[in-house]
Amino acid sequence: MGNKEYVLWGTKPDETLEDFICAFTTNPTYEDIADLKKWADDTWDKLDKCPQCGEPLPDERERWSADDWSGKEYCSEDCARRVAEHNEQVEAKYASEV
Ligand SMILES: [Zn+2]
Repeated sequence: MGNKEYVLWGTKPDETLEDFICAFTTNPTYEDIADLKKWADDTWDKLDKCPQCGEPLPDERERWSADDWSGKEYCSEDCARRVAEHNEQVEAKYASEV
């Protein structure tokens, strides 16, 4: 099972898509599995993603900002810090060139 399904369903990383669907459906068909994969793709596309790492953003209260002006939100303190550090480097480079 890919990371996408793992995040969406909160299943264990070593659980397969077939294991997952068997918890809800006896004798799942290939169509059932294809439907689930399609649902995962569609749902995933609609989620807000972290601009830094591409993972879905957590609950709004648990998001992080790298600055006060861009309005961009990140999934973790780590992602926000990396962006803040990158921005500082860009600013320092710009300042040294002007
Ligand atoms: Zn992130």
